[in-house]
Amino acid sequence: MNDALEPLFAAIRANLAATRNSCHKESLFARLRNLAGSDEPVDYPEAPTPVFPTRITIAYSVCSRSCGSSAFLVDGGPQTCDFCGGLMFRSHQAEYALAPETPSEPAPHLSSAT
Ligand SMILES: [Zn+2]
Repeated sequence: MNDALEPLFAAIRANLAATRNSCHKESLFARLRNLAGSDEPVDYPEAPTPVFPTRITIAYSVCSRSCGSSAFLVDGGPQTCDFCGGLMFRSHQAEYALAPETPSEPAPHLSSAT
């Protein structure tokens, strides 16, 4: 297994040395830091109440032939493959509207039997 890692590390070093895009470089470092991390629980910040957009574009995206993954990506969001980390290609897109709020009802499996 370690023999398989060395060519990958060499390719990463070459990629870092060749890239002039500082965002790409920082993104690659962040991924490497994440890969080198421990199994400690992630410390997430307290999230403010979000304002959801009323309309949003969703793109059906595919990864490389060698990966074979596909996903629906939100416009403006990350375009990287969750499986291999590669850049995904957006093949089709559609616009979605926020559904109107409906009164909340208990889920059928949670309703009490009377
Ligand atoms: Zn992929």
